[in-house]
Amino acid sequence: MSITEPPVSAAEALLTDGTTVLVRPVEAGDRAAVLELHEHGMSDTSRRMRFLGASRVAPQMVADRLCGPGRSGVLALGAWADGRLVGEADCEATAPGSGSAELAMAVADAWHHRGVGTLLVEHLVHAARKRGIREFVADTLAGNRSVHRVFSDLGLPVHRHLDHGEIRVRVPLDEDDEGYLRAVDERGRTADLASLAALLRPRTVAVVGASRRTGSVGRTILLKIRRGGFTGPLWAVNPHTGVIAGEPAYPGIAELPGVPDLAVLAVPPAAVPGAAEDCGRAGTKALVVLTSGLDAAQARRLMHSCRRHSMRLVGPNSLGIAQTDPQIRLDAEFGGAFPLPGTAGVAVQSGGVGIALLERLAWLGIGVSTFVSLGDKYDVSGNDLLQWWESDGRTDLALLHLESFGSPRAFARTARRVTRTLPVLTVDAGRSDAGRRGAASHTAAAATPTVTRETLFRQAGITAAHSVAELVEAAALLHTQPLPDGRGRVAVVSNAGGIGILAADACAEAGLQLPPLPADTVAELRDLLPAGAGTANPVDTTAAVGPAELRACLDALARADTVDALLVCLVPTALVQDDADQPLHALLHGPGRRHLPVAAVLLDQEVPVQYRTCADGGRLPSYADPAAAARALAHARDRARWLAEPPSAPAAPPAADTDRARRLIDAFLTTHPDGGWLDPETAADLLDCYRLPLTASIRARSEHEAVLAGRTLRPLGHEGRVAAKAYWPGQVHKSAEGAVRLGIGSDTDARECYRDFRARFGDRMAGLVVQPMAAPGLELLVGAVQDEVFGPLVLLGLGGTATDVLGDRTARLAPLTERDVETMPADLRAAPLILGRPGAPETDLAALRRVLAGVSALAWDQPQAVEVDLNPLIARPDGVVCVDARIRVEPRPSFDPYLRRLRRPALAGEASGP
Ligand code: ADP
Ligand code: MG
Repeated sequence: MSITEPPVSAAEALLTDGTTVLVRPVEAGDRAAVLELHEHGMSDTSRRMRFLGASRVAPQMVADRLCGPGRSGVLALGAWADGRLVGEADCEATAPGSGSAELAMAVADAWHHRGVGTLLVEHLVHAARKRGIREFVADTLAGNRSVHRVFSDLGLPVHRHLDHGEIRVRVPLDEDDEGYLRAVDERGRTADLASLAALLRPRTVAVVGASRRTGSVGRTILLKIRRGGFTGPLWAVNPHTGVIAGEPAYPGIAELPGVPDLAVLAVPPAAVPGAAEDCGRAGTKALVVLTSGLDAAQARRLMHSCRRHSMRLVGPNSLGIAQTDPQIRLDAEFGGAFPLPGTAGVAVQSGGVGIALLERLAWLGIGVSTFVSLGDKYDVSGNDLLQWWESDGRTDLALLHLESFGSPRAFARTARRVTRTLPVLTVDAGRSDAGRRGAASHTAAAATPTVTRETLFRQAGITAAHSVAELVEAAALLHTQPLPDGRGRVAVVSNAGGIGILAADACAEAGLQLPPLPADTVAELRDLLPAGAGTANPVDTTAAVGPAELRACLDALARADTVDALLVCLVPTALVQDDADQPLHALLHGPGRRHLPVAAVLLDQEVPVQYRTCADGGRLPSYADPAAAARALAHARDRARWLAEPPSAPAAPPAADTDRARRLIDAFLTTHPDGGWLDPETAADLLDCYRLPLTASIRARSEHEAVLAGRTLRPLGHEGRVAAKAYWPGQVHKSAEGAVRLGIGSDTDARECYRDFRARFGDRMAGLVVQPMAAPGLELLVGAVQDEVFGPLVLLGLGGTATDVLGDRTARLAPLTERDVETMPADLRAAPLILGRPGAPETDLAALRRVLAGVSALAWDQPQAVEVDLNPLIARPDGVVCVDARIRVEPRPSFDPYLRRLRRPALAGEASGP
């Protein structure tokens, strides 16, 4: 086992029916459980299948193999439900170092067909790969259908070879096999949806802690559920009172006339764990905990009950949930009015934001399918809701307000899929910079939370607004208007020139184009409009037009093929008035006009955004502020663009030597158990594993060696010169400390440089790094960080001294796709310097892209490389070379986003881990 990989850790995961099991290694102390599983959990037939024939002593042998003294060579995982071993899968190398391992598994008869075997094998695949195992082999009886089912369901290629009634199965464990990942994802989704049904489509509900006191949370919820018209039985539980709001209350969960699918807990913190455990015992499958202020012990007990009894949990500190489906009608939130039934899914972390959002949506007239106030998010997260909305058949717009992501990589993956079918909007709430202290490289400093979040949202196709107001404004447009063409070319029309110019500026600011209008459109407008009108884009109709001209003008613009969207700004005038007979908005869209997105700006409007009904009965959003309209159109354009992009494959990684890289890092971590910056030689070796072009360098430890190094490298250097840098472990920015000398052209200079550095840095200096001078070029920064929240992230920016001054950079989540590698350089403001412009040739783009792909592969494969900083990477038309590379490693477990497991929440009072 490699030292940077801790032993398999325990994880809870969902079976296909939504049951939670604990997956953990089988230990020496589990002998009795293993025996019990094989002797009593399995029928004779199952045992015969498992052991290729009946053998009385077989269970003893398995128990010896998994729990006896020889168990060190065996990798065994067990699935535990409520403390009982219900399944086991193990593997053992067929021969040391062969890369092939014999796989065996057993599942208790009562637990068949629930995905226990598949889940265990998935976890075993993960653990086995980490140990260098490249294939599983298994001998099975042809009739052992359950085992064959596990193999075929896995999603990995399976090779079968029939031999005397036994089938020899071979399963190669190639990394990152797309089919496998998809299959794992799909199983995760099925299990997740099964487990969420009790929460979001409960048939029976109990409110625990409803009290007689008017205004108490429990009582309010009870009344709201009742008034909301919940379609199933509703029970109140309160040991101290017999009647609440005219309803009989039961003294305990156990006393209820039936099992509540969902229980809403509104009891004091100390009573939460007990109530949760009672619910679990009774067979409840979902909890919404409204209580806040649980201490760490209470939180742990709550989680324990949930996992033990397979209950999904919303909260604690939740405001509740609402499900408007007429078949359910559950209003279990104490925020505001029962949301209008509709098609927007809403999930918020903070209750206050939730209320604000629901109010604004209600005001606009956007109905809600499901509302969930996630609260402290111990279990159910935004990710779960996205999956639910994707397949509930009712939701066509998702609105999220999240301060953090339970599992950002999983979130990014789910969001990427869900955003293909429905718009997902979120408020980029931003995070503080605390927690990033100590980050020393440019890359780490550049990877601010904002950069990271923007990256995540953009890559996942999520529409990220900067405020709740902007979110609602964008939602208003996306909810009713078609998407524009991805080019987002807007025609602005106004009947007051000044407003048109403001709107045009707002469009430019939002990154939208105002294309010139085709000649025939201009001619048409000239005919239509009065003499002083502006017929270029923005179109100024002047105040001297009436409704008929305005409508004709909009019709003409809608016909122009350079126009993808209309932004119409109207001020009531003597000719165009906003009255009941002739409402302004009737003009905005009419029968027969090409269906393109329209945003209106009505300057006498009092609210920021509202819907207006058009002549054809459709609704379109009208804004008080042109900037809000422009931003909403820009969001729609971004979504259209994102949808138009075909999914891109991961950038072809360089022929990387992953194993050597892992060994280098392991070796460093053996001598530096707490991690640290790699010395220049190790850093160079590691970069070499990913074919990253680092300039030659020699570390000189004396004046004499400095002279020799200079002589050796001068012929390689630009104009026959070398650069020299004082080195000491842990150094940060060398030039700032005067530790870089450039353009050394003679032995004397080399000697003098060594002497000078030695005099200035004394014993701190652990040698002089001598390099050939690189020819001048564009100095770039390419780097990677392992973000605690988002995982590995690759950055490209302007480097050298410009790094921090200009802050010109772009980032993407690793692994980079072909398109990422293609588009990153163009993202920079300095793009023309890289891509070439008249008089200045482009840099070697192919080489730059290889560097991006290489750094991405390094960051993806080696999660211990927490900061990689190539700065500068000097880019020229004839190639790219890095002259300064710094890499920091830290011992940390690798994280596999494809391993199905429930999140480990950061519980109250506990420091949140990475
Ligand atoms: P630091 O980033 O720690 O200050 P660098 O090694 O990046 O130190 O050197 C600082 C600057 O010196 C670089 O940005 C680059 O402009 C220049 N430089 C460093 N090494 C070379 C080299 N081998 N060839 C050309 N220029 C170099
Ligand atoms: Mg540098």
